[in-house]
Formats: sequence, C-alpha cells, structure tokens
Amino acid sequence: MNSTMQRTLIEAVAKVVISHTDELTTLDQAIGDGDHGLNMKRGAMAILERLDDLAAMPLPEALTAAGQTLVMKVGGASGPLYGTLLMTLGKHLPIAPNQNDLARAMGAAIGAIKKIGRSDVGQKTMLDVLRPVHEELALDGPGLVDRVRQRGAQAADATVPMKAIKGRASFLGERSIGHMDPGARSASLMIATVCSVMEE
Ligand code: ADP
Ligand code: MG
Repeated sequence: MNSTMQRTLIEAVAKVVISHTDELTTLDQAIGDGDHGLNMKRGAMAILERLDDLAAMPLPEALTAAGQTLVMKVGGASGPLYGTLLMTLGKHLPIAPNQNDLARAMGAAIGAIKKIGRSDVGQKTMLDVLRPVHEELALDGPGLVDRVRQRGAQAADATVPMKAIKGRASFLGERSIGHMDPGARSASLMIATVCSVMEE
C-alpha cells in the first residue's frame, strides 16, 4: 500500500464514521447513553487532523499512531477499545501484509480487546462483528473482500436478538434485546469501508 492509498483508506473510514454519527447516536440512545456517534466522530476528526502525518508513515506505524490518537481523544468504552484494536494491528502487521498476516493480526487485536474489555464473543458488543470477520479472513478461497463485507454486515444484524452482557447495554438486561449494538454497527461500517477501498 503506497501513501496515496493509505491516505484514501484512512480518510474514507473517518468520513464514513462522521457521516453515520446520527445513526450511531440513535442506536446508542436505544440501549446505551447515546454518545457512541459523538465519541466515534471525535475520534474520526482527530484522525483527519493528522491525515498527512498518518498517510506518510509505514502502515504499522500509522495504525499504532491512529490507535494512540483514539485512546487519547475518545471517551467512553469505544475509544480505548478501538484504540487497542488499531495499536495491536500496528504491532503485529508487517509493512506489506498478506491475508495470513491480516488474519493473525486481527486475532491478536481481538484478544487484546477481550483482555482490556474483560469481555468475550456472544455478549452483544463490537466483538460479535470482529470475531466473525476474523474467521472469514482466515478462510482461503475467492471473493475475500465480498465475504468479509457480508460477514460483517450479517454479524451486526445478528446482534439485534442478542441480550447484552457487557457494556452499558447490559444494564438493560432483557430490554437490550431487539436493538443492534452500536459498537457492532460502527465496526461493520468501518470494515465495509475498508473493503470498498480495497476493491478500488
Ligand atoms: P460507552 O459504552 O462508554 O458509552 P460507546 O457508547 O462509545 O461507549 O461505545 C459503546 C460500544 O462499545 C458498545 O456498543 C459495545 O459494542 C462496545 N463495548 C462496550 N463495552 C465493551 C467491552 N467491555 N468489550 C467490548 N466491547 C465493548
Ligand atoms: Mg455510549
């Protein structure tokens, strides 16, 4: 990935987050405290402010720096969790990753999120999108980009009937059932955007 592509990728992901602020707010109003849209927007704006800088770095360093920015600038659970995701990817990815590298780094990032979130798959969180996407990344065969995108979207939909066991939504117990998890939605949104950029 050259610096132009890297710039396009970072910019596209940040802009899609910003353009979906209201949707993420609405989802978090239903089962959380309504700040997920603004938390994610704040993170995306902070990333865009450093766009030139981030685009010029080798991929692993750019991911680490973007993750550190999220940890520093974003409140709520999602800032440290997404920050950890990016920093762990940065730590594990080589400069020019192949599919295997991506799968391995994603596995490590999921492990890191579980550790700092004291959470696991099946609790109605972003992990319920990240884990299926990781599984898809680890599978050989054609149509990887499409498979990953579809798996992410399906996985976000699949959080609707789940009962939240972690995060603020867990305070609602049974009443968390019937709503998509905001973090699952933001994860699938960002993954779909990465897929679109990869296709181009
Ligand atoms: P907060 O919950 O502090 O208000 P956000 O609203 O920005 O933070 O983010 C909420 C999202 O973060 C949830 O929808 C969920 O996907 C994710 N999340 C919250 N806690 C955890 C956790 N312990 N492990 C994994 N993901 C979590
Ligand atoms: Mg919230």
